[in-house]
Amino acid sequence: MIVNLIPCLADNYSYCIIDSVNKNVILIDPAEFSVVDNFLKNKNLVPNYILNTHHHSDHVGGNILLKQKYNSSILGFAADKDRIPGIDTFLKDRETIKIGNLEIETHHAPGHTSGHVFYYLKNEKIAFVGDIVFSLGCGRVFEGTMEQMYHSVNKIKNLAPETRIFCGHEYTKSNLNFCMSIDKNNKDLKIKEQIILAQRKHNIPTIPTTVMDEQKTNIFFRLDDTKIRKAISLENATELEVFSKLRKLKDNF
Ligand SMILES: [Zn+2]
Repeated sequence: MIVNLIPCLADNYSYCIIDSVNKNVILIDPAEFSVVDNFLKNKNLVPNYILNTHHHSDHVGGNILLKQKYNSSILGFAADKDRIPGIDTFLKDRETIKIGNLEIETHHAPGHTSGHVFYYLKNEKIAFVGDIVFSLGCGRVFEGTMEQMYHSVNKIKNLAPETRIFCGHEYTKSNLNFCMSIDKNNKDLKIKEQIILAQRKHNIPTIPTTVMDEQKTNIFFRLDDTKIRKAISLENATELEVFSKLRKLKDNF
């Protein structure tokens, strides 16, 4: 099983899972038709399934035209059935679907949107997280509460450490700058900074990242860290309070 990354729009990533054993092709969040279609044509692939993490147009923009051309079946969270274009199958929280030999778990993780989900392939240790978590960051809170987003980010943080995280955007450099502004003495972050700067200089994606990597470097995964708490003057606050302050600071960064 291979995960292909398809850069779309300004900074989106769509993904294409190719399961060569069972000949299944699954798209995750096709942001736009033409770029994804060109990718499929070049590789001579027909996508049987499209999975969406949430309803934002830069994640579902390719749904309808891809479905028309390839007769793909579209799967998304049941609560977003009226907002995900072309949806065929309504998934529930913690439902596991089987496509060939792949077992894909759906996990509801609201905050960025009320119906946001991530998809976890437990056996492969892979998570498609949309706009819940990014490398060195997390998504903006649009439709939910800070508390919902805090719990949603924690769901990703608590996956198996070796889990590879495939997120919806290349926001890593901007997130790096924010993390460095608060956690500049973090040795792991400094090492990651060198890697990220080298990758971006050559326009190489910084994705996937891993849960373990984020636990060491992503401030939204490190709410109990005394240096981070000191930097934002919240030494004795709850994790939720630290999370909320960091998210608000990032909104205005
Ligand atoms: Zn979004």
